[in-house]
Amino acid sequence: MADVATTRTVTSPGLVCAHHHLYSTLARGMPAPPQSPQRFEDILKFVWWRLDTALDLDIIRDSARLGALEALARGCTTIIDHHESPNAIEGSLDAIAAGCAEVGVRVICSYGVTDRHGAEGAERGLDENRRFLASGGRGMVGVHAAFTCSDDTLQAAADLATEFDVGVHIHVAEGTVDASAADRVRDLATDKWLLVHGVHLQDDHGLAGTIVHNPRSNMNNSVGYAHPRRFENSIALGTDGIGADMLEEFRLAYAAARHTDVASTPDEIWKWLEHGNSLVPDARNDEVVWATRSLDPWHQAFTTGTTPEQVTVDGRVVWANGRSTVVDEDEIIAKAAEAAQRLFQRMEE
Ligand SMILES: [Zn+2]
Repeated sequence: MADVATTRTVTSPGLVCAHHHLYSTLARGMPAPPQSPQRFEDILKFVWWRLDTALDLDIIRDSARLGALEALARGCTTIIDHHESPNAIEGSLDAIAAGCAEVGVRVICSYGVTDRHGAEGAERGLDENRRFLASGGRGMVGVHAAFTCSDDTLQAAADLATEFDVGVHIHVAEGTVDASAADRVRDLATDKWLLVHGVHLQDDHGLAGTIVHNPRSNMNNSVGYAHPRRFENSIALGTDGIGADMLEEFRLAYAAARHTDVASTPDEIWKWLEHGNSLVPDARNDEVVWATRSLDPWHQAFTTGTTPEQVTVDGRVVWANGRSTVVDEDEIIAKAAEAAQRLFQRMEE
């Protein structure tokens, strides 16, 4: 359903999700956590760290395909993904890249390095980033977060990113548990880094890089409001794994901003959305034809369910009339359902 007067269409560049976790696409319907989370660290421990240890390469690919399909359905042509699968590290970024390529979505992959499985686990994560980048894969160097990494690991990740002339994609001060992140990475961060969340950063944190704001996820995890307007850094929008409906994330970012500051405007929030195209300029050449009267920020902030009629990525039409033009969606959905069953079974074990 689009807004009324749907005979009108408007075109835009491809939308960019500046922070996603495609592996969480299958998480919907997952078994309930062993106990009810009381704080952010519990959500990591009882939900996401239980899910990621159960992933294998087939599940990762099937999850990425479905997530990529759902992105196209909402006009998002480019995903900056952050991945972790401690029991299936090697080849995991290829699995994500292959899943997205099949559907026709551009993806920038990274493996979230962490010391929470020991120094050897961190080493394997670094190796996966290196292997993928060295093989010509489009990516960044992923780091889970400073609070799960040693200083040596943070340094190694920064060095690897410099070696390949890419940025580091890292969660920063999402919860109070990571409030010291700025002090840990201040001397390492460059303009190419993606600093995800930044909720508990000081106003004058002094970190170079783009801050990626994920309003829905922040609300869902009760970590607080990031107040992105206070930062000098550029701001981009991400979903943190809850789909890739970037117009919806824009609306939510606007509502969240207005909830605390009536001076926030849709124009300002739209710039955060558009900054995704500065991070991945190829997305500017993609074309999304929207069934809507206007893409003016003031119009879209108060319109729900704006839907693309056609999506073109790198010159190829990959979505038209509400369907993929390049893959059998029913097959992808069926395979994803099978993969989800397998994943949930492993999580129960
Ligand atoms: Zn995240």
